Amino acid sequence: MNEQDTNGATAAKGEDTYGLNGKVALITGASQGIGRACALRLAACGATVALAARSQEKLQAVAAEVAAAGGQARTYSLDVSSEDSIKACARAVLADLGKVEILVNNAGITRDGLVLRMKLSEFDDVLRTNLTGAFLLTQALISSMMKGRWGRVINITSVVGQTGAAGQANYAASKAGIIGLTKSLAREFAGRGITVNAVAPGFIQTAMTADLPEAQKAAILAHVPLGRYGSDADVASAVAFLCSVGAGYITGHTLDVNGGMYMG
Ligand code: NAP
Repeated sequence: MNEQDTNGATAAKGEDTYGLNGKVALITGASQGIGRACALRLAACGATVALAARSQEKLQAVAAEVAAAGGQARTYSLDVSSEDSIKACARAVLADLGKVEILVNNAGITRDGLVLRMKLSEFDDVLRTNLTGAFLLTQALISSMMKGRWGRVINITSVVGQTGAAGQANYAASKAGIIGLTKSLAREFAGRGITVNAVAPGFIQTAMTADLPEAQKAAILAHVPLGRYGSDADVASAVAFLCSVGAGYITGHTLDVNGGMYMG
């Protein structure tokens, strides 16, 4: 049995409940937060995990956690805002591991501000990182999945992409775009044995949300029927399920992990 620790890791490698033994998974933004939790969970499910982000030091710490739990991980330098970096990372992973069957497009940033004050660079940076990066990396890796006639693409969107949020026009646009991208990819690759789904977290306690003012956090919590913030482990559970063999008839779906704060 797998046991969850408080950080969302899984303590021991379990049975192959999800059918992921021997699969290769690439997770972007795996150096911390939700990406780290997804990497630990998929590794505990038997996948070899390619951990990608800009911070090599943090990635190596996550790789050590995976190894300590009996899993297999390699680290890759990746800046999802750069097409060259994306292509180089995809080449390196395919050269080292031979294939990629699972892609978790998780890397993301915020540059919050009201529209009247938002600079074009702040809008563009968020779109390029959160949306264009997911498009380009999927494009670079999908032929590996097509060759094996099996694949899983999981795109991390956000409740904000479904509801909009004052002060987050750039982020909400990028995350709404992820949902449209997900549905389009799902239609294009369904005939190749590849499913493409999105996971839409609500308020998850990570570095991304740590600096929000306490009053804002309390206001958000008041709208969460389950009465607590989410954890990175909550999101990782949804991602692992959508990657599983048993989820093979689910595609183009957006799975909410938001404690009920939005029921679309
Ligand atoms: P986080 O703790 O800030 O982690 C973000 C991750 O993205 C880091 O690993 C970071 O690694 C990576 N990253 C950022 N820019 C990158 C770039 N240009 N190239 C490669 N990697 C990059 O955030 P999180 O809360 O875990 O968020 C993960 C995903 O969940 C994001 O897409 C976010 O929008 C989404 N989400 C989060 C919440 C929440 O409440 N926390 C809610 C809904 C959706 P490096 O800095 O090392 O590159």
